[in-house]
Amino acid sequence: MNRVYNFSAGPSMLPLPVLEKAAAELLCYKDSGMSVMEMSHRSPVYESIIAEAEQNLRRLMQIPENYKVLFLQGGASTQFAAVPLNLIGRTGKADYVVSGQFSGKAFKEAEKMGYDVKCVATTKGDNFTHVPALTREMFRPDAAYVHICYNNTIYGTKYAEIPDTGDIPLVADMSSCILSEPVDVSRFGVIYAGAQKNMAPAGLTVVIVREDLLEFADPKMPTMLEWKTMAENGSMYNTPPCYPIYVAGLVYEWLLSIGGLEAMQKMNVKKAAVLYDYLDSQSYYQAPVWKENRSLMNVTFVTGDGELDKKFAKEAAAAGLQNLKGHRSVGGMRASIYNAMPLEGVEALVAFMKKFAAENPKN
Ligand SMILES: *Cc1c(COP(=O)(O)O)cnc(C)c1O
Repeated sequence: MNRVYNFSAGPSMLPLPVLEKAAAELLCYKDSGMSVMEMSHRSPVYESIIAEAEQNLRRLMQIPENYKVLFLQGGASTQFAAVPLNLIGRTGKADYVVSGQFSGKAFKEAEKMGYDVKCVATTKGDNFTHVPALTREMFRPDAAYVHICYNNTIYGTKYAEIPDTGDIPLVADMSSCILSEPVDVSRFGVIYAGAQKNMAPAGLTVVIVREDLLEFADPKMPTMLEWKTMAENGSMYNTPPCYPIYVAGLVYEWLLSIGGLEAMQKMNVKKAAVLYDYLDSQSYYQAPVWKENRSLMNVTFVTGDGELDKKFAKEAAAAGLQNLKGHRSVGGMRASIYNAMPLEGVEALVAFMKKFAAENPKN
C-alpha cells in the first residue's frame, strides 16, 4: 500500500528517512543486540541516545548554555498545570494571552488552581482569526510570567513576532511550530511543546527552561511536574519516554542533515505560499485568518457551505489527501503542513482543491 499525504494536526507525518532508519534499527539498535524499546534507560547505549538528542536539539535551536532541555511525558496539556506550579512563586501572579483553545485551556488550568492569573488579551470576539496585538504596558509589571501560545493549531494563526514582555519571562506553548523556523530562544523564559506535531511520536513533551527560573516551584507540588527535579536528574527521575526520545533524535539528525532550521524555514515558507497564494487567487474557498497572522504550519479554509466542506474532506481522503477536516470545534478544513509534509503534498492538495471547485459549483 502507498503512503498517503497526511494533513493531520497531530500526531502527524514524520520524515520518511526517519521512519526508514527507525525501521532498520527496530529489532536491533547498532550492536546493542536489542531494540531501543527494550533497553534500560540507565544503560550506556541509551544514555548516549538521549545525550545526542539533546545536543542536536541544542545545535538546531541554538539553545543558550543557561537553558535546560527536559524530555518529559504528559503532553503539552500537563504543562498547562506545570507552568504555574513551577513559576508562580516568583511573584504570586501571572498573565495570560488567550488566542485560541489551547491558550484558553492553559489559562483555565492556572485559574483552577486558585492562583492570581489574569487574561490580559484575547481575540475570542473575532473567533480567533488573529492573535492579539501586545505591548509591554498590557502586562502587570509584577507578573511572574506571561503565557502565550505561539502558533494556534486549531485556528491557523501565529504571532508575526515575539511579543515584548520586558523583564517578565515569556512562556510559550510551541507545540505546533517548534523546529519550523529559527527562533531566538533567549527571548523566552520557557518554551514547551508536545512532540507529536513536529518532532516525534506522541508521548514526549520537550521543555526548554532558563536556569534561573527553576527556583520558584511550590515545594508541595507533585515531583513529576517539577522542572528542577527533572533537570537535576537529566530527565530521568523516572523512566523517560525512551522510544519517542529516540525518534525525536532521528528527527533532529534529519533536520541538521538538510541544513538546519534556516533551510527548513525556507521550505516551509515555500510550501505555505503554494496554498495561501492559491487561496488568495480565487473566491471558492475563503481563508478566515488575518494575513499578518497566518500560520506556516496549519492552514485553515472553508467553502462557506458545511455540506460541501464535509464532501471535500471525504473526497480528498479518497484521493490520498487525508485528515483535512477542520477541528471539531470550528469545522471547515485545515491542512497541517508540518516539516515532514513534502512540497508535492501541498501541490497535490491545491490540484485537488481546483478540481473540487470545478466539479461542485455553488448555487
Ligand atoms: C496539540 C497541542 C496541545 C495539546 O498537546 P497534548 O500533547 O495533546 O497535550 C497544546 N498546545 C498546542 C499549541 C497544541 O498544538
